[in-house]
Amino acid sequence: MTARLIDGRAVAAALRARVADGAARLRARDGVAAGLAAVLVGDDPASQLYVRSKRRACDEVGVASFEHRLPADSGIAAVLDLVARLNSDERVDGILVQLPLPQGIETRRIMAALDPAKDVDGFHPLNVGRLWGGEPALVPCTPQGILMLLKRVHPEGIAGRHAVVLGRSAIVGRPVAALLLAADCTLTMIHSRSRDAAALCRGGDIVVAATGRPEMVKADWIKPGATVIDVGISRIPGADSETRLAGDVDYAAVSRIAGAITPVPGGVGPMTIACLLRNTLAAAAARRGLADPVPIED
Ligand code: NDP
Repeated sequence: MTARLIDGRAVAAALRARVADGAARLRARDGVAAGLAAVLVGDDPASQLYVRSKRRACDEVGVASFEHRLPADSGIAAVLDLVARLNSDERVDGILVQLPLPQGIETRRIMAALDPAKDVDGFHPLNVGRLWGGEPALVPCTPQGILMLLKRVHPEGIAGRHAVVLGRSAIVGRPVAALLLAADCTLTMIHSRSRDAAALCRGGDIVVAATGRPEMVKADWIKPGATVIDVGISRIPGADSETRLAGDVDYAAVSRIAGAITPVPGGVGPMTIACLLRNTLAAAAARRGLADPVPIED
């Protein structure tokens, strides 16, 4: 069997087009220009790259973007002060604090200081609690994108399927587990202390791999026909000083066993920014008591 390729680029492009329509509608009908503020502390090159690509994505869909940079040695007070200003800035509907933050600045404290209504990453404790409680919330972007991809593969729904999540981070593993549970999956979570991850993983009708361990999921970890979502992105040094990107799944081998699989790159990655833009519109509308212009369910 050769797995069906889940084309995240195509799904993300369709979502971005819906966001562009939604942003135009909000502007024309309601006089609302949605805006996203990015906070970058320090000069981590990968973070700078992410922030640049987010700004470009905003431009493309007609969402205003504001960039705020602070030096790496800024104290936590300076970051909290900036967050407070963005919380009360009417032009700003979404605030994205680029992670990781430099040492000494506790992520937890910064997330808790965000206005939950502008928390487009869905990391504020109130949004985390709402997500687990099954209440409406701003849902973290990568997990939201993963559920959208699963919906493409399983338009009939995923209720009753056994989903296995590898990784339990606050950014991916835990929120994706909450969403799978909300979609009525039976859930297994695997982490670094789990025993016999391979056997646990083989039980999954759906496998979501988010460990950051390149190609750890092998063909004999996968039930034939399962749907495999590879979240991992690792840079592997090659012989000729070139690097290549690898996911958490041994793609070449697993794609001969799975029913459907996301590639790396071009799977989950493109969904993350598209969902961030979607969340920004959702936040802009919700803050003003308007209907969500791009509902997740559609
Ligand atoms: P973290 O490092 O925060 O978490 C990794 C998780 O994997 C932890 O829960 C850890 O367990 C678990 N883990 C590590 N090693 C093993 C192992 N050998 N067996 C089982 N579980 C293991 O990573 P993130 O969640 O932030 O990211 C995971 C990957 O996804 C990374 O490659 C990252 O780059 C990528 N990513 C991609 C995104 C996208 O847009 N495509 C967005 C975000 C992340 P424990 O808790 O016990 O330590």
